[in-house]
Amino acid sequence: MAINIGVIGTGNIGQDHIRRITQALSGASVVAVTDIDPARAQKIAKGLGGRAETTGQNLITAKDVDAIIVTSIGSTHEEFVLAAIAAGKPVFCEKPLATTAAACKRILDAEVALGKRLVQVGFMRRYDAGYRLLKEVVTKGSIGAPLIAHCAHRNPAVGDDYTTDMAITDTVIHEIDTMRWLLDDEYVSAQVLYPKKTSKAAKHLADPQIVLLETASGIRIDVEVFVNATYGYDIQCELVGETGVARLPEPSNVLMRSEAKLSVEILTDWKKRFIASYDVELQEWIHSVASDKIAGPSSWDGYAAAVTADACVESQKNGKIVEIKLGSRPALYRQVSTSSI
Ligand code: NAP
Repeated sequence: MAINIGVIGTGNIGQDHIRRITQALSGASVVAVTDIDPARAQKIAKGLGGRAETTGQNLITAKDVDAIIVTSIGSTHEEFVLAAIAAGKPVFCEKPLATTAAACKRILDAEVALGKRLVQVGFMRRYDAGYRLLKEVVTKGSIGAPLIAHCAHRNPAVGDDYTTDMAITDTVIHEIDTMRWLLDDEYVSAQVLYPKKTSKAAKHLADPQIVLLETASGIRIDVEVFVNATYGYDIQCELVGETGVARLPEPSNVLMRSEAKLSVEILTDWKKRFIASYDVELQEWIHSVASDKIAGPSSWDGYAAAVTADACVESQKNGKIVEIKLGSRPALYRQVSTSSI
């Protein structure tokens, strides 16, 4: 039986997810949408043959909506995810789960009180084929116990409204989640350092930055975040283990021999870099809704990412090593239902 989905927020990623559900994936259809801009919602609904609801709350409680996708702006996520939990409906929420750690904790508490997982957070890198291969290497012990990780997150350029803290909350947030998952370890501390600033960055923006994370088992992770790197969108990850080193594969691309050069094009658009992982992410979510077993990134993962991001932002301001305290993980989130997620 197809899952009837309602989508809250028909902006960039909302429209993208609607397109993939209706054109690329199986097992679900979008029956209702809503947006703060009713005309935008109406237009999308018309194109779908679905309907536009006037508010997110109406969409969540609508009888024919089985599951919800939240792709509105971050500050609205808490309200909609809590309403979905109250309605007992599965909800896929784009990152961030909520904009503060306290709000993430309220969601966590509501789900724990219900005693059943309903929430999945849109950390799509866990569904990237390359990261999954890397996870397999770690899980199989092929490089021994991981000791160090080197990561880089480089964008060609950012708009003038991009601020220094967004390097953490919008950009490194992906490494924060991915590395916890990859290493199956929680963070205990964070520090942010500022190298020499690029002349390409806006006056108000510190760029590049180096984020240092330490895990409970003592693994050290360095993340270079460089959002005016000019040459491309480049994601790097190298794990150093006791008996070997493993590196995230480059996205496949044509190897060119031309004009006395051997070259491979580097992507510039982040959407293209992870396009396949969004498809896998949503398809697995649809299957998990159908089988009533939500298994992807959880409210706990959203909460842990928010607490870690807060620590990084604090360190951006005071330059110190900031301790990360998550508290104990509720039993609801201790069992991981698949080996890869
Ligand atoms: P966007 O283009 O601004 O879309 C958000 C939409 O939500 C807009 O149409 C906005 O309307 C609407 N909206 C705002 N308040 C609302 C409300 N109360 N009820 C219903 N709709 C509301 O932003 P986006 O780029 O799609 O990002 C949306 C979310 O996805 C963000 O949390 C972002 O971080 C996340 N995201 C995740 C990834 C990823 O890699 N996983 C990638 C991109 C985005 P207005 O424009 O009129 O405010």
